[in-house]
Amino acid sequence: MPIVRRRTRKVIVGDKQHGFVGIGGDAPVALQSMTSTYTYDIDATVKQINNLHRGGADLVRVAVPDKRDTQALKEILNQVRVPLIADVHFHFERALEAIEAGIHKIRLNPGNIKDRPKVEKVIAACRERKIPIRVGANEGGIVERQNKTQRAEEKAALEQDYSGKMVSIMVEKLEEYLRIFADSDFYDVVLSAKSVDPQIVLDAYSECSRRFDFPLHLGVTHAGPPETGRIRSVVALGALLAQGIGDTIRISYAADPIHEIEDGKELLQVLGLRPRTEPELIACPTCGRIEIDLIAMMSEVRRRMADIPVPVKVAVMGCVVNGPGEAEGSDVAVFAGAHKGVIYVQGEQVATVKEHEILDRLFDEVKKFADRVQKGEATLRNQKVEIKPPAPIGELGSGWEKIRKDGLTLPVMR
Ligand code: SF4
Repeated sequence: MPIVRRRTRKVIVGDKQHGFVGIGGDAPVALQSMTSTYTYDIDATVKQINNLHRGGADLVRVAVPDKRDTQALKEILNQVRVPLIADVHFHFERALEAIEAGIHKIRLNPGNIKDRPKVEKVIAACRERKIPIRVGANEGGIVERQNKTQRAEEKAALEQDYSGKMVSIMVEKLEEYLRIFADSDFYDVVLSAKSVDPQIVLDAYSECSRRFDFPLHLGVTHAGPPETGRIRSVVALGALLAQGIGDTIRISYAADPIHEIEDGKELLQVLGLRPRTEPELIACPTCGRIEIDLIAMMSEVRRRMADIPVPVKVAVMGCVVNGPGEAEGSDVAVFAGAHKGVIYVQGEQVATVKEHEILDRLFDEVKKFADRVQKGEATLRNQKVEIKPPAPIGELGSGWEKIRKDGLTLPVMR
């Protein structure tokens, strides 16, 4: 069953020069990342933005802590073709300067801009230019800092029930911020409620989804490097997206942000929320039945797949146990055994070759098949796979009755 997305309001980010990206409503889930360069370093920032855009980013965010950062925005915008978001903290002037420079969206935390008229100025400038604002309530900066009594109360409550109280503080803060926007009659808003704890992320966004109809920007903050942050991020974002919650995502890693886009794209693709654009590799994990050097072959398959221009599904399987099944479910597949490889194209066996010939023959078939797809002579995932339906309702889960009906006696339990 395809995922049924929860309907929200929709905001539009971008302009003619950089393209328009919808967030929420009927728009597909937008993928975004954030540069790790100093924004005032125009060349490095442009290079990273363009790399992220080529990698599949629909939107890119840049930090503008300083005036020299917002001063660089005009030139950066001239050299990129993807909508940009300015990340503003503490200084409302940076938001106004970024808007003046032509930025497409603002990320703002009204909690760290204490003076309400300043927030209202940013809202007014955004309204004038039709620029949406993302309002965030992140776990890291959520506990009250100015008001000492409130801070002590919140800290005490967190000690009693950290996760539960954290979720309620985050949601309350968002409600408080949204009142400011509603008072200014401004609804081009995207919400976020990030935490480092995947369970808090799940609870906070589920609650936001119940209470608000604004689009949601999903993220797990400070997830660390990809090696340790991947599971933390994907478990929370994947669970929310699978329930139809989330309109734009950012995976955050302490690494080159291209990894955020690679993993975000794969997450959306495996959930069927984004059409696959590159070839897909299915491979068995190998085990004691393996009779070829599959791991070495697989990395070479992966390398060669980068040159294939259509999203062909390629399966590399180690033996006859699961090989034929995967071969049936892929466009091009090989399953190995007795130092040979049986090659399939769309469920039909086309060759049996010796181990040292597998790679070249497999790729001959992949290229031929991709070529036929490009010419319109073949369709991806079009093979006929014979799927045996389960036993009809009534027989499933009624094993003992079925056995009795077949005339077998039951063993006596002692
Ligand atoms: S396909 Fe064969 S070799 Fe690969 S993991 Fe499964 S049983 Fe093992």
